Amino acid sequence: MGTEQAAAFIRALADANPAPETELLYTDPFTLLVAVVLSAQATDASVNRATPDLFAAAPTPDAMAALGAEGIGPYIRRIGLWQGKARNVAALSRLLVERHGGQVPADRAALEALPGVGRKTANVVLNVAFGEEAMAVDTHIFRIGNRTGLAPGKTVREVEDRLVARCPPELLRDAHHWLILHGRYTCKARTPECWRCPAIAFCNYRDKVLKPGG
Ligand code: SF4
Repeated sequence: MGTEQAAAFIRALADANPAPETELLYTDPFTLLVAVVLSAQATDASVNRATPDLFAAAPTPDAMAALGAEGIGPYIRRIGLWQGKARNVAALSRLLVERHGGQVPADRAALEALPGVGRKTANVVLNVAFGEEAMAVDTHIFRIGNRTGLAPGKTVREVEDRLVARCPPELLRDAHHWLILHGRYTCKARTPECWRCPAIAFCNYRDKVLKPGG
């Protein structure tokens, strides 16, 4: 897919949803960071059921570090991989207090140095909390990039780099929201709902599903 077609694909998603937002509940960069760490290999809905009580109990890195992994665990038991995540959230909160004055750093290297924070999580935080034009490639975006020809790549990083290169600059900040929501609700893993896809005219997928149940 050439750059013009890729731009038209993303513009079509943009026109259908002018003000996209993350579906995770958060109130500031710290609660966003924790929510994104908790959402790895889990649904946003499961995270959103747990975080209001967790954030009420520990709204700051200081309070979260004081709660510790044992105190965090009971709040997040219904989220997948909760034990490791409880340890990571406690440890990253401690590091935020020790190294960053209790603030979430707006810096990729500093973010990726925190436990449980990889490139994707750093990209979400840089984008959503700090307004950077970072492209967080999750399982949905990886699939869409390859399925549609928008940004083919064998690795997450290849898809990320191709998307950044092909996305019109003015749409880059919101593009990951459009693509994640598109993958979650329309261009689904098992059966894409092409019959109601706003980007169908710009998609190269050969096996489009053109009617429900088709
Ligand atoms: S036409 Fe189908 S495969 Fe292509 S982007 Fe839309 S939903 Fe996905």
